[in-house]
Amino acid sequence: MKLSLKKKVQETKDAYSFIFQPPQKLRWTAGQYMYFTLEHKNPDSRGISRYFTIASAPFEKVIMVTTKFASSEGSSFKKALRMMGAGDSIEASAPKGKFFVKDAQKKHVCVAGGIGITPFRSIILDLDHKKALKNILLFYTVHKDAIIFKHTLEAAADKWKGFALVYTNRSEINDIDFMGKYIHDMDEAAFMISGPMGLVKNISGNLKGRGVGKQNIITDYFPGYDHE
Ligand SMILES: Cc1cc2nc3c(=O)[nH]c(=O)nc-3n(C[C@H](O)[C@H](O)[C@H](O)COP(=O)(O)OP(=O)(O)OC[C@H]3O[C@@H](n4cnc5c(N)ncnc54)[C@H](O)[C@@H]3O)c2cc1C
Repeated sequence: MKLSLKKKVQETKDAYSFIFQPPQKLRWTAGQYMYFTLEHKNPDSRGISRYFTIASAPFEKVIMVTTKFASSEGSSFKKALRMMGAGDSIEASAPKGKFFVKDAQKKHVCVAGGIGITPFRSIILDLDHKKALKNILLFYTVHKDAIIFKHTLEAAADKWKGFALVYTNRSEINDIDFMGKYIHDMDEAAFMISGPMGLVKNISGNLKGRGVGKQNIITDYFPGYDHE
């Protein structure tokens, strides 16, 4: 399907959101992604397609993609994306993926590394909209001057007692004892981890080492961000 760009929003120094209008009413589950193809002149070896999480919640009825632009060695795809203007279109697949909350009654521990926050914006806003934002603890590993969706997340945490937002740094989040201070029932919780591959692998390895079953861990890897 073709999505038409409505507007671009600068989120932080190097992160932007792209808000697209779908051609018809689109159904998806908060946390899913789409595969985007953007034809452009002289594409580099990384090609003309990318996966992006849908950062908007279904009730918002638009498709929002949030991404970061590298200061050097940025891809031709990202350059073409950045150049898009209102009314320009991009090709996108149907929404896909299993990175979503299956049972909102269950305790969920969410871990976002940097840009890995995108599915959680959708999930948090969706649960807020459904008046079901409880049982969620979100660890957000991010530099304090690069917090994407700061206002949205902090407003939800202020509103809901059952949603806790904890900003962390890399060394804290890689320390299972740090996480353990916030989670008393690790065996009971469902873990959702999203971000650069190194961070996701480390944390899921630590959790498995603590006895968390792999059926209770779901992950989303974002290639291209492991240097962060
Ligand atoms: C399910 C899924 C969901 C995703 N959701 C998101 C999302 O919501 N937001 C998001 O931003 N990304 C998301 N991604 C990752 C996204 O698809 C891209 O991989 C990522 O944004 C990097 O984009 P880019 O390759 O255009 O590189 P750029 O962002 O332009 O550059 C990133 C870095 O790539 C390095 N690099 C240089 N040359 C190469 C090379 N030849 N090959 C690889 N890397 C090189 C450079 O160090 C540069 O700093 C998702 C991926 C998956 C699989």
